[in-house]
Amino acid sequence: MTPWTPERIEQVKTLAHAGLSASLIAADLGDVSRNAVVGIGHRHGIKFHGGDGGTNRKAKPKTQCRINLPTETAPEYVGMITIMELSDTTCRFPVGDPLHPDFRYCGKWKSDDATLPYCGLHSRLAYETSKQRRDHASKQAG
Ligand SMILES: [Zn+2]
Repeated sequence: MTPWTPERIEQVKTLAHAGLSASLIAADLGDVSRNAVVGIGHRHGIKFHGGDGGTNRKAKPKTQCRINLPTETAPEYVGMITIMELSDTTCRFPVGDPLHPDFRYCGKWKSDDATLPYCGLHSRLAYETSKQRRDHASKQAG
């Protein structure tokens, strides 16, 4: 294989600038593979047109398929139940608008503490909310 002389690299550069793909440049140079051309191009910052990207041509289809999947569904709300399905062992934390037909309760398995109406997360949430409210009220009061 012929070594990469500055002249040959310059030739690759010129051909790449002319819009030739790496495989066409390789064919033009004669005794090098397309991969060798791509490699030397990468090393010297030469960008190829057309079918140069043997490795990344199919890698990332950067088309406009940016589907925004609903990622806001909090995992703790999985398995929400209606009021009919509430039991002594399910979290009764209300989720959503009570006037809306989609209104549900958390329904998660409660902790062993039977005195709490909510699951661990919602117990904490409910407690903190009321505490914050109290803090807020006391601040406003004086
Ligand atoms: Zn809950």
